[in-house]
Amino acid sequence: MDFNYSPEDEAFRREFRTWLEQNRPDRPIQNLAGGFEQDEEDWQRKLAWYRKLASGGWTCVDWPREFGGRGLDTLKTIIYHEELQRIDAPLPFIGSGPSLVGPTLMQWGTAEQKQRFIPKIITGEEIWCQGYSEPNSGSDLASLQTRATEEGDYFVINGQKIWTSQAQYADWAFVLCRTDPDAPKHRGISYILVNMKTPGITVRPLVQMSGARGFNEVFFDDVRTPKNMLVGAKNQGWQVAITTLMYERGMGGGGQPLIALTQELAELARQVDRNGRPAWQDSDVRQKIAELRCEAEALRYTGLRNLTRRLRGLPPGPEGSILKLGGSELNLRAELFAMELLGAHSQLEFRAPHAIDDGRWSFRMLSARGGTIAAGTNQIQHNIIGERVLGLPKG
Ligand SMILES: Cc1cc2nc3c(=O)[nH]c(=O)nc-3n(C[C@H](O)[C@H](O)[C@H](O)COP(=O)(O)OP(=O)(O)OC[C@H]3O[C@@H](n4cnc5c(N)ncnc54)[C@H](O)[C@@H]3O)c2cc1C
Repeated sequence: MDFNYSPEDEAFRREFRTWLEQNRPDRPIQNLAGGFEQDEEDWQRKLAWYRKLASGGWTCVDWPREFGGRGLDTLKTIIYHEELQRIDAPLPFIGSGPSLVGPTLMQWGTAEQKQRFIPKIITGEEIWCQGYSEPNSGSDLASLQTRATEEGDYFVINGQKIWTSQAQYADWAFVLCRTDPDAPKHRGISYILVNMKTPGITVRPLVQMSGARGFNEVFFDDVRTPKNMLVGAKNQGWQVAITTLMYERGMGGGGQPLIALTQELAELARQVDRNGRPAWQDSDVRQKIAELRCEAEALRYTGLRNLTRRLRGLPPGPEGSILKLGGSELNLRAELFAMELLGAHSQLEFRAPHAIDDGRWSFRMLSARGGTIAAGTNQIQHNIIGERVLGLPKG
């Protein structure tokens, strides 16, 4: 790909920058890898920022125009994210609509489903959550037990999902259900859209060690969902589910947020002391931050390769697994290094009195481990890369 910006690209940058100057949020917006909103207020701010962007037509910008996107090409999409990052207000993560179910519906949805759901994903009017994991089915997702049985024009769903992010805010869920218990496990699954306000759904929050309440348990007791909410063919939901997972693994951020994180680490190193002088004056500290920065830049290029595939209309490739693995581990290492820099201050929790940077470093460090588990654990990504990219024999 060509990395030079054309006059047309630069004109696009100016157009978006002008819009941002007039509409930017008053404080930075933070997307925490593997983390969640710090609290309800944080969620509302992110949602408001997403909707503000949407009001100017600045969400889902790389989606084709026929679906309501701007049809931006690779370079303009990169410029878009660069400009958001430049004002410390990246595109907020508001559930699984824009990143996961939207692109999946474009590929697999019926005309009616596309028309019904896609516009409200773009505007952020409807929030989505992902009903995949169950108490006994995580890495081995295809062993899931939530059942959907047919009754006239409806599926009736019974079972339990767990670790469902943002379910407490969600209007809709995409839920993997077993529709043929006698078929081999990958062949008896269906991908069904469920209105979260349907009677029989109970959402119970789970609190993380960081104190954030992002996860939930979701219980389905005789939940009736019309059959036209089936995505793809009945019992063929595994293929649809894999499409979503490929998009999820491609979400690793492409290095841009990690580049910003290394910048923050450099600022932290100037703020805190080590052996009686600013940590930044210690060459080991600078060396470490430079090392993290180099890795973040390398991931950025992998992210660009991923983006190129998507903008050429190709399904996400193995770069998704590499980004997910590399991004989540780099994020964790960077946050752990922040703990070293902070020394005794690292013990102070989020928003504790006297905490440096309002304690956000310890919040993020505690959240960072989650990033190595979400979207398929890193051990599973190792397996995928080994088997499907490197062609190694199955372990
Ligand atoms: C921040 C976060 C957000 C999440 N959001 C959602 C969500 O919105 N919706 C949703 O459905 N789920 C969500 N999840 C759940 C996530 O998808 C699962 O946690 C993940 O798939 C792992 O499943 P598990 O927790 O059951 O662990 P298990 O599958 O029980 O794994 C336990 C350990 O065994 C290892 N292991 C398992 N199988 C293998 C193997 N074959 N080879 C090598 N090692 C293996 C794993 O790597 C792991 O270390 C989220 C998780 C996190 C952390």
